[in-house]
Formats: sequence, C-alpha cells, structure tokens
Amino acid sequence: MIIAIDGPAGSGKSTVAKRVAERLGILYVDTGAMYRALTHKAMEKGLDLKDEAALINMAKDTEIELVLDKNNKLTVFLDGRDVSAHIRTPELTNNIRYVAPIPGVRREMVKMQRRAAREGKGAVLEGRDIGTVVFPDADKKFYLDADFQERVKRRHKELVEVGMNVDLINIKEDVERRDKSDMERKTAPLRRADDAAVIDTTKLSIEETVEKILSCL
Ligand code: C5P
Repeated sequence: MIIAIDGPAGSGKSTVAKRVAERLGILYVDTGAMYRALTHKAMEKGLDLKDEAALINMAKDTEIELVLDKNNKLTVFLDGRDVSAHIRTPELTNNIRYVAPIPGVRREMVKMQRRAAREGKGAVLEGRDIGTVVFPDADKKFYLDADFQERVKRRHKELVEVGMNVDLINIKEDVERRDKSDMERKTAPLRRADDAAVIDTTKLSIEETVEKILSCL
C-alpha cells in the first residue's frame, strides 16, 4: 500500500505522515529530508548552487537513507553519515530552492524515493510531488493545507522545539519564499493531484488529522 501526502511547509504533513505510518505499521518516507540532505552536501562541498550540471553529478553519486527509531525520531544518513542535526537550519532551508527545481536532481531523488518505499510492505510518503510524480498511482492521496499564519506559527514552533533561535518574521519570509518557489517551478511544482483528498488542517489537531486520513483508507 502506498499513501501519498503532499502540501506546503507547515501544513502538518511530517508529523501526521509519521503517525499514519506508525498506526498502519508501514514505512515512513520524508522526501523533504532527502532534498535537505542533498542541499547540505552541496553546501559542504562548496559547490556553486547555480551550477546545475555539478549538482546533478553530485546527486547521481549520493546515497540517502532514512531511519526511524522506536521513538519516532528520524535519522538522515547522507553517504553513511548522520546529518540529521544539520539539515534544518534557516540557511540550508533557504538554499533548497536552488537544488530542488533541477529536473536531473529530481530524477535521482525520485528513483531513491521509489526504492525506499518499496523496501517495506507499504509506505507513507510525504512531500510536494508524491501524488503527481513519484507515485501517480498511489493507493490513496492526500493534500494537506492550512492558513498561511497558522503554517508560519507551526514552523516557528517546530524550530524552537529543536533548539533553534529563530525570528517569527524570518520564518514568515521563509514560508512565503518556499511556497512561491515550490509552486512556481516548472518541474514537479507543488499542486494537488486531481484525485487527492484535500484536508484543511488549520483548525485540526494532529490526532484529528490522522483519524481523518485513516477513516478514508
Ligand atoms: O518538507 P520539507 O519542508 O522538509 O521540504 C523542504 C523542501 O524540499 C521543500 O520546500 C521543497 O523545496 C523540497 N521538496 C521537494 N519535493 C519533495 C519534498 C521536498 O521539492 N517531494
């Protein structure tokens, strides 16, 4: 069983997708973490983020593994190294918009995502293009959304919880910039698949959203 969950930053996808996977006893694949790990590698290598060919070559030569422990904590391995602590900084988040729109990069990521999803007896994948590109024939597709202010508030809370000292105003700019870049790029833009169920999570708790998804299966 493949379940696709797409939506913009702060729509609640990650937490919800993780819980749905846990409840169903299937894999959880955070595709955003893969784009983050790749961006981390590019920055670490000092690559010119405008050099598409170099970024594609790098992507072809990259292994990313996602491991979820018993406490639902995700560890991201980039070429065998744990990079989990480095991939959520505002600077890196801001740089993903150079890496994620490149078709050749996305091709490599999609291959890796399909491989990861097929490792178990089923998977919940979350991202921006799961229902439209990665698994267009997924068993169930959901598109999560929430009001802009609510999404900003959630992103802020998430970052503060992992010990980051971030300004609400910067988060607002980050979410705005990412919405624009994710929705307006030519390859695999963020959009609702025609057959995806839309859930507005603005006024829903995580548990309510999880229950809503489970009740649709
Ligand atoms: O989900 P998360 O906020 O961690 O994703 C970070 C970024 O990675 C997104 O803003 C988007 O640019 C990119 N991404 C993507 N396609 C996906 C998942 C994430 O382009 N399937």
